[in-house]
Amino acid sequence: MEFKLLDLLFQPDNICLCCKQEETRDYICKSCAETLETIEDFKVIGDSTCYSPYLYSGHIKRMISEFKFREKRYYGKVFAKLLEDFYRKNGLDYDLLVPIPLHRKKLLKRGYNQCDILCDFLGERLNIPVNKEILIKIKETKDQHLLSSSKRRTNVNYAFKAIGKKGLLNKRILLVDDLITFGYTLEEGVRALKDVGYREIDCLVIGKARPESPLKKGR
Ligand SMILES: [Zn+2]
Repeated sequence: MEFKLLDLLFQPDNICLCCKQEETRDYICKSCAETLETIEDFKVIGDSTCYSPYLYSGHIKRMISEFKFREKRYYGKVFAKLLEDFYRKNGLDYDLLVPIPLHRKKLLKRGYNQCDILCDFLGERLNIPVNKEILIKIKETKDQHLLSSSKRRTNVNYAFKAIGKKGLLNKRILLVDDLITFGYTLEEGVRALKDVGYREIDCLVIGKARPESPLKKGR
């Protein structure tokens, strides 16, 4: 029998969220942290850099998927810790965190937006405000990972609407998502924000997925 509800409610903060054995105060123990594959070639979208510290593989892949689809909201804590370390190590400096929003119907269905949770934990750690109002998802899109690469771009075309708030237009914005593959979703988010006058926008995600190449199938 699965104690799913218990698992949700009770997750000790001092046990590694990866191996669920080692004690740690950082949500992830040293030996598990060492297995995470880091990357340094960040995608550039127009004049926005998309920081993606980890390869979407191993523990990162499993945890992102459970964070999104299996209600493991507390994984937001380990991701926030990893992203805080990355942010500080690289001397990043932003005024505002903006999560990639879900369409309201999707939000009702899933019950939560994992990017909201991630931003809440990260904003708290970095002492940066989170704004969930200036970017809105207005188009119901299909899950990008279910689509071929050619259909992914049109799927998210004009999916977002932004609201230009006078006092915020000159803020340095960090647009936060869980994952990047081709970058179409973030590209659309950046475009919507720029269209209404925001000037400085970069992106931060947890993991970068290697686009699947048909040539590599079967390997
Ligand atoms: Zn561990």
